[in-house]
Formats: sequence, C-alpha cells, structure tokens
Amino acid sequence: MARFPDSITSKLPQVGTTIFTVMSALASEHKAINLSQGFPDFAVSEKLISLVNQYMKKGCNQYAPMQGLMRLREVLAQKAEFLYGAKYNPETEINITAGGTQAIFSAIAAFIRDGDEVIVFEPAYDSYVPGVLLNGGIPKYAQLKHPDYHIDWNDVKKLITHNTRMIIINSPHNPSGSVLSADDMKALEKITRKTNIIIISDEVYEHLIYEGLQHESVCRFPGLMERSFMVGSFGKTFHATGWKMGYVMAPENLMAEFRKAHQFIVFTCNTPVQHALADFLTDRSNWDYLPEFYQKKRDFFLKLIRGSRFKVIPSYGTYFQLLDYSAITDEKETDFAIRMTKEMGVASIPVSVFYHKMLDNQTLRFCFAKKEETLEKAAKILCKI
Ligand code: PMP
Repeated sequence: MARFPDSITSKLPQVGTTIFTVMSALASEHKAINLSQGFPDFAVSEKLISLVNQYMKKGCNQYAPMQGLMRLREVLAQKAEFLYGAKYNPETEINITAGGTQAIFSAIAAFIRDGDEVIVFEPAYDSYVPGVLLNGGIPKYAQLKHPDYHIDWNDVKKLITHNTRMIIINSPHNPSGSVLSADDMKALEKITRKTNIIIISDEVYEHLIYEGLQHESVCRFPGLMERSFMVGSFGKTFHATGWKMGYVMAPENLMAEFRKAHQFIVFTCNTPVQHALADFLTDRSNWDYLPEFYQKKRDFFLKLIRGSRFKVIPSYGTYFQLLDYSAITDEKETDFAIRMTKEMGVASIPVSVFYHKMLDNQTLRFCFAKKEETLEKAAKILCKI
C-alpha cells in the first residue's frame, strides 16, 4: 500500500536516537551498571514528595499561570539575590519551564531566525544544536581545549560576525566537569560589549560545584546579565530529573519575547510540583548541602578507581567524571563504551557524541550521582579492566 508522504525531507537529517537512549537501553538489556545517563539512582526527599502529594490532594491540579506560580518565582528571585547579588523582578523577569531543555529551546525559538549564527562550545550538551537547526540558525563551533576543557576567548572572538545572534555557554559543564571562572565571564562580557548578541547560560548544575569554587553565574556580571537567559533545573537540584521542571531568568525585554514563544511551546508547567517547590526552596538547607554531598560522591568514586588504568580528568562541577582510557586500548570511544557495557557490565557515555565531528579523545563520561553500592560495584569492574 502506498504510504503518505512518499518522501520526508528531514529538518534534522544528521540526528538519530540520542546516545543516552541507546546506552540506557543497552545497559538494561545487558544488566550493566548504568553510569551513562545523568540521573541519580537515590531517592527524592520524602518531604518534597509529601508536599507534592499534599498540594494534589488540596486540589492544585489545574493549569498554573503561564509565567509559573508567582510564589515560586518570588522564592527564585530571593535566591538569585542571596547567591549572586542579582535583582530579577519575579513578575516580569522569571519564568517556570518544563526543565532546562525547554527553557533553552524556547529562548532559541524566540530569537533565532533563518541564517542567524549561534556559537556553541564543543563538547556540547546535545539539545543545543538541534534547537538551533530547527529554528533556521547556523551553529558555529568553538572547541573547549582538551584535556582541561577551557575556553580560548580568542577563538570565540574570531567566530563573531555580523550574523552572530547568540552564544550558548554551560557552566558547570556537561560532559567535562569544567567550570567557568570570573575571568572567563569578564572575557565574555568584553567580547559581547556593544553587540546585539544574546547569551543563553545553561546553569542547570549551579549547585554542583566543588573544591570550594564559586559558581560564576551570568547574573553576577551586569554586562552579561543584561543580555542573558540564566537557565536552571529543579530536576538536577532535587534529584528529580523525571519531573522535568526548571526555570529561566532574563531582563524584562528579553523575557517578554521568551514568553511569546513559551506560551505556545508548553504554555504552563506542572502545578502541584510548583507549589511544593515554592515551599521546599524557601528552606536553604534543602539545597545548600549539595556541593559537599556531590563532592563526597565524586571523591568516593575516585578513591575506588585509584588503582585502575583509567586516567582521571579532574571534574570541578556537575555529577560527571571523565576518564581517559588510552592506557587500556586503542578502540574508538563508541566501540569501547559499547563493549564495556555488553561484556564488562558498566555503561558510560563516549565524549565524542558531544562533537559534531565525533572528535575522539579516548575519553568516557561516567555519572557519579549514584548510591555508594552502585559506585562500588562499578569501580570493582573498572579496576579489573
Ligand atoms: N543542560 C545540561 C548541560 C544538561 O546536562 C541537562 C540535563 N541532562 C539539561 C540542560 C536539561 O535539564 P532538564 O532535565 O531540566 O531539562
């Protein structure tokens, strides 16, 4: 029987199923320990769950306002001022989103037109480039310098043209675990001064930063704040990635445009969860323990693999740890990651998938947001390889 349409011209011809889906499926098929996809295997706070439950029972189950619950936006404004000294008006400058991903996509959709250039840093979180392409933009790639994944701002300067509309930054950085310093932010401030470039600052790991480092949010820098969308994720902060809840903060003129797109992409987000988050976020002790909590996990994992043949690339933030396996084999990252999952029982993510040209540095990404017993089991295997 004839099928309609008889041919489809894909808007994303290069894109297949993401590696995260592939590796998680492979891990489950082969009963491997899954350190591939970035999600915790420990529980969400009982208190937070009971708050959601409470608000559901109270009848908070219909559409929330398009901008998000005012009470939650107010708490976010207070938190941004407390942490970063930044003043955002909760009425006009903060919006609740269905996770960081939707905030990023909606900001791109609101501003990127055919032919606009968007600078992204590779290795890049996988949603940025498809978001740019779906909206007619042209990705321009700057490379983070291996092995410490720092930015060479001269490279970035050279990429800027009259068509540059946007730069997407991400700190703490997935997959590398590198973080941007105050000097980096000042360099960005300098090269974007007197331009119309909009910045999306993906800060979903804002609370996952180690070694006593300070998170350098765009909103600490007035010259950046005025042109930036600061993107956060409650999924990352509260170990609830499956809730897909996040937020975005930007000056009023940018937010007005964002909302035009947002209201037709998702319109509004989960109501009872917003009520619960507003209560939960108010108590600082529910999130200010996170750097110590995750640094302990990182150090626990690193101690366990100390005797292995993997070389550690320092991670200063996120819940990811890169390991260089060049002392073990010459195999390509994807081949080794798949073989490790199938034959050895530990799933990871090849870093090459974060590059449009699949750059191979014989490096794999491991997620350490796991229970100690999970990390112990995985480390035992890694030490034998
Ligand atoms: N940005 C980065 C760098 C991420 O790692 C992730 C989640 N893996 C997101 C954005 C998306 O966050 P959310 O789940 O809140 O959509």
